[in-house]
Amino acid sequence: MASNQVRKDYLLNRWVVIATERKKRPTDFVTKPSANNTDVCPLCPDNEHMTPPAVLVYLSSDETVKKEKDQNGLCHKNWLVRVIPNMYPVFAPPTKKDDLTKQSPESERAVGHHEVIIESPCHDNHPSTMKLSQLVYTISAYLDRLAVLSKKSYVKHVSIFRNHRKEAGASLSHPHSQLITSPFIPTILAEELKASKNYWNKNSKCLFCDVLNKEAAGPRFIWKNNSFVVFAPWASINPFEFWVVPKQHKSNMLCMSGGEMHDLAETMRVCLGGLRSLLNDPPYNFGFHTVLPEDAKNYYHWHLEVYPKLSTWAGFEKSTGMFINTVSPEDAAAELRSAVQAETNL
Ligand SMILES: [Zn+2]
Ligand SMILES: [Zn+2]
Ligand SMILES: [Zn+2]
Repeated sequence: MASNQVRKDYLLNRWVVIATERKKRPTDFVTKPSANNTDVCPLCPDNEHMTPPAVLVYLSSDETVKKEKDQNGLCHKNWLVRVIPNMYPVFAPPTKKDDLTKQSPESERAVGHHEVIIESPCHDNHPSTMKLSQLVYTISAYLDRLAVLSKKSYVKHVSIFRNHRKEAGASLSHPHSQLITSPFIPTILAEELKASKNYWNKNSKCLFCDVLNKEAAGPRFIWKNNSFVVFAPWASINPFEFWVVPKQHKSNMLCMSGGEMHDLAETMRVCLGGLRSLLNDPPYNFGFHTVLPEDAKNYYHWHLEVYPKLSTWAGFEKSTGMFINTVSPEDAAAELRSAVQAETNL
C-alpha cells in the first residue's frame, strides 16, 4: 500500500511527493569525494595575478581588519578574504552604450555584477570545518558587497550562493561563494514575495515568523542558537534539505547585527559540519533569500536555504516542475539533529 504523501511548499506553488516507499538511509547517499584537481589554483595566495584585481580584500592589521581593494596594478597579499569579479560573468557591469532607463529585462543585455568571494586563503578550508572568525569575515564580505551593489540603479536583486564540490557545479575546489546581481527579481524570489505579501494582507502577520515558531517545536526541527532556527522544510524537494531562518524579522540580511553575524557563522559551521559528517562531505548548494524592496519590510523574512545534491532530477521533475523526495523531512531532521549535536560537542 502506497503511503507516499503529496506536499506543497509554504510559499511557492510547488509540489513534492515524499516517496517514503523508497525509503533510504543516509548511507545510501554517500558518494566518493571527487579526485582532487591538481591544476594550479588561481584562488590560492600568491596566484593573485591569475585573477582580475580584487574589488575588496580583508587584511589583518594588529587587532583589527583593514578593508582595501587592488588598484593601480597593486595586488594585496596576505589577505583573509578576497572578492574578485568573475572571469566569465553571467551579468556584466553596464557600459556607456547601455541605456539603463529601459526596464525590459527580456530585450536588454544582462547588466549587473558577478563576483567570487574567496572565503579563506587555505585551499581546503570549507565552512563545515572553518574557524568561526574566518566564517564571520566571509559573512561580513557578503554584506559589504551587498551594501555597495544594492545601491546601483540597475540592480533589483542580489543573489549570494555557494556551490560545493564539482557535482554541485563548483569548477574550483578552493572555498568560495558567488554573488550575482540581476536587473529584475528572479522567479522564486518574486513568488515568495507575492505569497508572503498575500499572507500579510490576510493575517497582518509574517508567514515566515509563523513557520519559524511552528517548526522550532516540531518534528522537523534541527538546531537553534540565540539568533537562528534551523529546520527541514515541510515540502523539501531535496533529501536532507534544511533552512536557516533568523529569529529577528528582517526582509534584508544587510540589517544583521554583529551578534547575529557571529551566530550565523556558528549556525553554518555546525549545520554544514553535521551534513558533512552525516553524508561524507556531500555536494551541496546554498542560497540566501534576501530582498531589496523597502515595501517588503513587513511581510518578507530573509533566510538561507541549503540543498544537498544527492539525487538527480529526471524526466518527471524536468517536465512537470513537481518533485520526488525519497527522504521525508522528518527523517532527515532526525538524522541531521544528532549529527549537528555531535558537531557542537566538538
Ligand atoms: Zn586554492
Ligand atoms: Zn518574519
Ligand atoms: Zn526562500
